[in-house]
Amino acid sequence: AVKETGKADFRFYEEGMLEQARERLALTVELREALQTGQLAVEYQPKRNLRDGTLAGVEALARWPHPVRGDVPPAIFVAIAERSGLIHALGEYVLREVLNQLQSWDAAGTVVDYVAINLSMHELSRPAFVDTLHRAVRSYGVDPTRIRFELTESTAMREPEETMRQLVKLRSHGFDLLIDDFGAGYWNLSHLRELPVGTIKIDQSFVRGSASNLADREITEAIVGLAKKLNMRTIAEGVETRAQAEWLRDLGCDIGQGYFFARPMSADAFTRYLAPTPAYAG
Ligand code: C2E
Ligand code: MG
Ligand code: MG
Ligand code: MG
Repeated sequence: AVKETGKADFRFYEEGMLEQARERLALTVELREALQTGQLAVEYQPKRNLRDGTLAGVEALARWPHPVRGDVPPAIFVAIAERSGLIHALGEYVLREVLNQLQSWDAAGTVVDYVAINLSMHELSRPAFVDTLHRAVRSYGVDPTRIRFELTESTAMREPEETMRQLVKLRSHGFDLLIDDFGAGYWNLSHLRELPVGTIKIDQSFVRGSASNLADREITEAIVGLAKKLNMRTIAEGVETRAQAEWLRDLGCDIGQGYFFARPMSADAFTRYLAPTPAYAG
């Protein structure tokens, strides 16, 4: 339910079901309008190679600075978008923003190898999804290898065969795919065998728990080990301390992302952030 994913900084209804439904409807209407009027923004968070601290790429994260409600968390508006079908418009919006940004960075000589975009599996329900996407990327003159997709699974896969076909097609155009939030939600081990993905992103709950919880450390280690055996790369998200970054590096995890390196930031802030030398050097 929408309510459960709400965050502390966004006041959500404690009221009953009716109120929730009404609230959801209001948000849906407002989100549609926000998408039409360009109210949404995209922030960027660096992904750093844990061995040498160099920038691997960035993740694009959608933001909705609502004029009345304040910042609506993505967990809320992505869920609203998935329920209402607005997820397609949201995906197109974010893609356009990212393609424009890549063009600007290229023109300014800012080196960003790739941008990872979160892809809700709901977006694959449109048969034309991959072709439309491929056309858009080409029209911007951006090489598909510079766009990667972080696959998130908020529900059990509904049409596994059709989904698989779409993912294989996406991959065949050169777009890289990775499994987001691995170890949480609906991803399971058979997906590692079946999906055309080369990278696993370890869910941040394990990294967060690693300082105090032996099981979280063991699980993280096991995921990195498993990925290595399958010739897959690993990204750790939610890295908040130097100790975590070093521990993950020593485990053999390839890439780190989290507040220790940098919070998600506006494109302009990111451009400035890339100008000086990085704060972390392996
Ligand atoms: P995600 O893709 O797993 O993104 C990671 C989330 O963790 C982001 O939350 C990010 O801001 C946050 N984060 C990054 N580093 C740290 C850290 O060190 N500590 C902590 N505590 N958090 C950290 P955010 O931006 O609220 O996004 C939440 C989720 O919403 C994303 O999870 C993703 O699933 C979804 N989302 C965001 N943007 C989009 C989008 O454009 N399209 C789709 N379909 N989903 C999106
Ligand atoms: Mg992600
Ligand atoms: Mg995550
Ligand atoms: Mg997530």
